[in-house]
Amino acid sequence: MANTKYIFVTGGVTSSLGKGIIAASLAKLLQARKFNVTIQKFDPYINVDPGTLNPYEHGECFVTDDGAETDLDLGHYERFLNNSTSQENNVTTGRVYQSIIQKERKGDFLGKTVQVIPHVTNEIKERMMLLGKSGDYDFVITEIGGTVGDIESLPYIESVRQLVWELGKENTVVIHLTLIPFLSATGELKTKPTQHSVKTLMESGLSADVIVCRTEYELSNDLKLKLALFCNVKPEAVIQSIDVETIYDVPLEMLNEGLDKVVLDKLGVISKNKPDLKDWNLFLNKLKNPKKSVKVGLIGKYVELKDSYKSILESLIHAGAINETNVEVITIHSEHLNKKNISDKLKLLNGLIVAPGFGQRGVEGKIEAIKYSREKKVPFFGICLGMQMAVIEYARNKLKFSKANSTEMDSKCDFPVIDLMESQKKIKSKGGTMRLGAWSCKLLNGSRVKEIYKNEIISERHRHRYEFNNRFTDKIFNDEFKIAGINPETSLVEIIENVKHPWFVGVQFHPEYKSSVSNPHPLFLDFVKSCVINYDANTN
Ligand code: GLN
Repeated sequence: MANTKYIFVTGGVTSSLGKGIIAASLAKLLQARKFNVTIQKFDPYINVDPGTLNPYEHGECFVTDDGAETDLDLGHYERFLNNSTSQENNVTTGRVYQSIIQKERKGDFLGKTVQVIPHVTNEIKERMMLLGKSGDYDFVITEIGGTVGDIESLPYIESVRQLVWELGKENTVVIHLTLIPFLSATGELKTKPTQHSVKTLMESGLSADVIVCRTEYELSNDLKLKLALFCNVKPEAVIQSIDVETIYDVPLEMLNEGLDKVVLDKLGVISKNKPDLKDWNLFLNKLKNPKKSVKVGLIGKYVELKDSYKSILESLIHAGAINETNVEVITIHSEHLNKKNISDKLKLLNGLIVAPGFGQRGVEGKIEAIKYSREKKVPFFGICLGMQMAVIEYARNKLKFSKANSTEMDSKCDFPVIDLMESQKKIKSKGGTMRLGAWSCKLLNGSRVKEIYKNEIISERHRHRYEFNNRFTDKIFNDEFKIAGINPETSLVEIIENVKHPWFVGVQFHPEYKSSVSNPHPLFLDFVKSCVINYDANTN
């Protein structure tokens, strides 16, 4: 097809309605009709990227192959579509202004007064069209972060308005996602907030073509007609998005409601293919009919907010489905773990994941948990900081190097088994300066991971500054605790294994960023399998 069509998704009434999931679900349906689709997210905040944001603010920071630190919605896009996203797929106000200010300093504006309109909106429009210009996509879906009516969203809504005018109504669709609240006192669903939100959009000159309504209860036909009338859309363009058991149900819900059809009709696109969701349905069927259930402990310090570990949780869902096992994740705050309570807190678990993280807070609890899993032979999966702590735990408790530590936690430590990478030592600025994105890793012969990946060279995404300190290779590694993967160019240790343990793997990278519904990550698959073995051994 390739006369690229642009679909914009805005949100109203409240935040957190799941624009990302709606965008990803629509993209999935279009992809299932054999179209090429990509999704991008425009975030109105002033941070240049979410890399410097505390996970409590916006949840996990997702990382792409090309090393962009992005909003977690890009994780949903990749998990639904099984396509890689890139730097271009996430734009923030900070990024837009950074670019404009650099141009201004270079003198590119030739003495003009630099203003929100046209300079900021031009920059936004250019970025909104960038992926479409490649000619690779039939559809580019753009999700606008925030809620209409926010001051900071205005330039984005104005940019969409201009693009609709420039590209023509036949090439653009505006989907507005809103909430239909239920008033329990009167037992009614209310449409007024949606009417107001659509009106707010209109005040900015933009009219919605499709209204997607988040709701806890079924919308009656009368209510849908009322919404259509007052929001100025066709009756079939009022789409119900009712609460469902899992986010992976949403594409099917949207198919039932005809979201893809309404969008294609609006754009005059004829699709000969019915959406092929065979594999998706197979996955859902397995997900919903598990034969077993295991308990996995996720140990981290940002556990109060589930979104902080979004990709890990989703990877476990994918791996659980394939193993036909319900993975019950018990999140455990590492700050609450100590020598005394460790056994009590962890004894019912069939596997442990020690999560990524930064800084001293909570690391001693992580080390206690790793000691427990090493000694009690409970499957252990250490991710990034989790791998680094596994090295420290082994050095301290097994090899009796009591001073072993990371220079991240103690810059003057005498036994720095984890240290700042050479390339990081001169770096002062925090934003976008970690070791980021895809790096290759050579899996060593005889390792468990080589069997798991069934490959010798793999590529995984990174986000860290510290590494195993190769000065200590001879002291730490032995015929039990082994290096299993190395970066071929730099010799950095990327994977460690304890081979005298049923399943003990630490990875310096983030496998969770590469698990998708159609391509669950092999390490998560095998880890869950080992948790099932642990469960069976403990129950029979
Ligand atoms: N804080 C550690 C580092 O920077 C680990 C980072 C992480 O877990 N993503 O190396």
